[in-house]
Amino acid sequence: EERHVIMDETAIRRALTRIAHEILEKNKGIDNCVFVGIRTRGIYLARRIAERIQSIEGKPVQVGELDITSYRDDRGSVGNPALAAELLTGPSGQAGELSIQDKRVLLFDDVLFTGRTIRAAMDALMDCGRPQMIQLAVLVDRGHRELPIRPDYVGKNVPTAKLEVIEVALDEIDGADNVTIIQQ
Ligand code: 5GP
Ligand code: MG
Repeated sequence: EERHVIMDETAIRRALTRIAHEILEKNKGIDNCVFVGIRTRGIYLARRIAERIQSIEGKPVQVGELDITSYRDDRGSVGNPALAAELLTGPSGQAGELSIQDKRVLLFDDVLFTGRTIRAAMDALMDCGRPQMIQLAVLVDRGHRELPIRPDYVGKNVPTAKLEVIEVALDEIDGADNVTIIQQ
């Protein structure tokens, strides 16, 4: 097993700051935007970028969380609005607290691979309301898409072999910030 650090703490910090500015530029501010982090690490990326935007714009951003593990096309959950509403929680962790109706929804995840997780996340969101639009931000795009899904904001593009894996460590959970590529 070979490990190479491809983003250190500084690189992650700069990437998140850049993405915060890109989000503000693309959306001409932050009005009518809500952030949704995909559990687990997408949540911390969403929170960090929301903090940066708050300090740049002086406006708070609502951050919710989505747990799509039970909302996959292969588990027969898609098209179940009652379940979808349970999976989307708001800033204080309550289901039904975050309205996405007519909002610009920014989805955050740590790694984008086949795109199936994002497809499931979009299915769940659509079952919770009708967003004005959905945009996607990821820390790492490792390629190998199996669906026509592309991110709007990318921390780092990392072309990988199928057998390589990316390890994302974030301070809130892992006690350090870094991204490592692991060749098995
Ligand atoms: P996908 O659904 O696009 O195939 O995979 C994306 C989801 O699986 C993300 O939620 C991501 O956390 C996880 N994932 C897929 N590949 C990797 C990887 O190489 N490293 C990490 N850390 N997560 C991955
Ligand atoms: Mg994940």
